[in-house]
Amino acid sequence: MQKIEERIFEYTGYKQEDFSVCLGCKICASVCTLNDVGFKVNPQELLLSLFMGLKIKNHVLINLCTSCYRCTESCPWEIRIPELVRAIKEITDKEESFTKAMKESIRIFGRVYEPYVILRVLPTIILKGYVKYLKRWKDYINFHLPTFAGKKG
Ligand code: SF4
Ligand code: SF4
Repeated sequence: MQKIEERIFEYTGYKQEDFSVCLGCKICASVCTLNDVGFKVNPQELLLSLFMGLKIKNHVLINLCTSCYRCTESCPWEIRIPELVRAIKEITDKEESFTKAMKESIRIFGRVYEPYVILRVLPTIILKGYVKYLKRWKDYINFHLPTFAGKKG
């Protein structure tokens, strides 16, 4: 059976030696959104682990990366760290219920249909205490789907 690391290279099109270009400048760490909100994350570590052939399954980014691409935009080599994270999540079946619901929605409706996605993730919303954000989500749906939440003023 293929190792996780080999499958990551297959999914993303990267090769192990591609990460040898990393300069170690840590610009990715200096712009990472997660550090803005109080975490201590160095995305470069993920590259180093892949380059060195170390285990990456439980790297902190796998749970926390927001896919904002700030690291890629700032990296001198434009290394696509969020795509590596997404590949790891898919391979290790660590995708969040939100991602799974969106994929399912695209399979059924051909697009992300927000009411369907919210219904699918309702247990997660309740269990993880996201209920307090529902008003904001309703405003978002109202904006995108006026007939769902009533007429816009
Ligand atoms: S894509 Fe992920 S690793 Fe890169 S800056 Fe955003 S949160 Fe950090
Ligand atoms: S910004 Fe790019 S080159 Fe610099 S440490 Fe991060 S991944 Fe490596």
